[in-house]
Amino acid sequence: MSTSVSRFVFSEWPPTLTDDQLQALTLYATTYALSHGLLYLPPIKPQPRVPISAIHAPLSVFPSPFPRRLFSLARRLQNTYNLLYARIATDVEFLDKVMGAVDGVGKVDDFVGQLWTGWKNLRDEGMVQPLQLGLFRSDYLLHAGLNDEPPTLKQVEFNTISSSFGALSERTAALHRYLYATTNYYNAYPAMQPEDFPANHTTAGLVEGLAAAHSAYNVDGAKILFVVQDGERNVFDQRWLEYELLEKHSIHVVRETFDQLATSVSLDPTTRALIISGGTEISTVYFRAGYTPTDYPTAAQYSTRFLLERSKAIKCPSIPLQLAGGKKVQQVLTHPGMLERFLRDEVPEAQIAELRDSWMTMWGLDEDRGVEKALSMAHQLVLKPQREGGGNNVYKEAIPAFLDGLPPLERQAWIAMELIMPPEGTGNYLVRAGSEEAQSSVKAEVISELGIFGWALFGGQDGGVREKEVGWLVRTKGKESNEGGVATGFSVLDSVLLV
Ligand code: ADP
Ligand code: MG
Ligand code: MG
Repeated sequence: MSTSVSRFVFSEWPPTLTDDQLQALTLYATTYALSHGLLYLPPIKPQPRVPISAIHAPLSVFPSPFPRRLFSLARRLQNTYNLLYARIATDVEFLDKVMGAVDGVGKVDDFVGQLWTGWKNLRDEGMVQPLQLGLFRSDYLLHAGLNDEPPTLKQVEFNTISSSFGALSERTAALHRYLYATTNYYNAYPAMQPEDFPANHTTAGLVEGLAAAHSAYNVDGAKILFVVQDGERNVFDQRWLEYELLEKHSIHVVRETFDQLATSVSLDPTTRALIISGGTEISTVYFRAGYTPTDYPTAAQYSTRFLLERSKAIKCPSIPLQLAGGKKVQQVLTHPGMLERFLRDEVPEAQIAELRDSWMTMWGLDEDRGVEKALSMAHQLVLKPQREGGGNNVYKEAIPAFLDGLPPLERQAWIAMELIMPPEGTGNYLVRAGSEEAQSSVKAEVISELGIFGWALFGGQDGGVREKEVGWLVRTKGKESNEGGVATGFSVLDSVLLV
């Protein structure tokens, strides 16, 4: 068969600009970001209680090329993923086995063990709220094809807690559309068309999930609780959700840290309704904290988490849904028959196959010959523990020394994953506020990670799962960095140019 369709050349991106054009685009970009709430709090410690200034989020000047076919594949997969993770979170036997503190990862990983044990105690007592809400983000990289084959879509991970940057990614997509509208990017890439900039309505979509939980709870005057980190800089991403809840759904939000909640919340002794500050009932608890051990410096923060879990409020996520997002679960899902176990007869075989095709090879370090295998192909691997938020993985040449020092018992807490190899040579111009090069953009070779957002409301008597795919995100990092967290400072917010 002849391949008459001309293929996008990734190594020819970004188009060439003159210095003047780049400077003009940088000015348009930063002023647009500052005008439209594409913002971060400045890096000040401690953060003032009442902020008086903000900086624009780190940005790319151009959107990043992404094959149209793989973009729609990623969005299509999200519906299956929403259902899959809802099913995992309600499969107690599976979570006990994989993540529990008796047989599973919780035995050797203290953080997972604490969460699981708290959940187990509450289960033994009896829960009063069956419903759970997930606001998810499934992350992908392009995997370059061999022998001139087109790239494929490969999953990095699936997030079930604090999936961030929905609101800011919507604004980044709008920024790129604006730069195109106002400058036509100086005609540097004449093939660019308006329809190559896909719509991004992630804020409304995520909020629809929160509003669905709130209305399922169905108590007049109830509010939604955002559990947040002290010193958080990514507050605007969260505030946009808050404004949307109020403006579109007339739902009020209370924001508090674990430490504030320790003294502000109580449970109604008969109904276990979650009551805050002496009077207001909470319908839904949305966690933008609690995903990392540093959010629990003492036993008090765990107590607060378990008090929230014990309440009648709907949790986003519940502890089991947080545990379902573990890397160990992602790896165990690759075992034969696992997907079928969760998706039963509901999802057609072809759709299950599509999902499976989006995975890299993974195994547990505690498996037979798991460590030997990891040593022998270390340069093609990343090792991951059960952690979120970036900065926890071990890559390539660092693997042998790491494995040397890893006590055999702790192997159970780690998975090995083959590295996804994105197409080489793609670049972009990156703009970061507050650095030496603050007033200009830096050209760099980059890797772009696509995230697809979705929500699911589930756990009721009928076993039904309400779910929706709601939008997307692109984060772009310099090629030399293994990791790509915007919040951890390694990457910038970006959007998609469909090619
Ligand atoms: P976290 O939950 O901390 O975000 P991730 O699994 O997303 O953990 O890993 C962090 C980053 O490491 C990713 O954003 C990506 O840049 C890189 N990474 C993770 N897995 C792979 C992989 N298999 N191939 C290439 N890069 C990866
Ligand atoms: Mg990640
Ligand atoms: Mg993650």
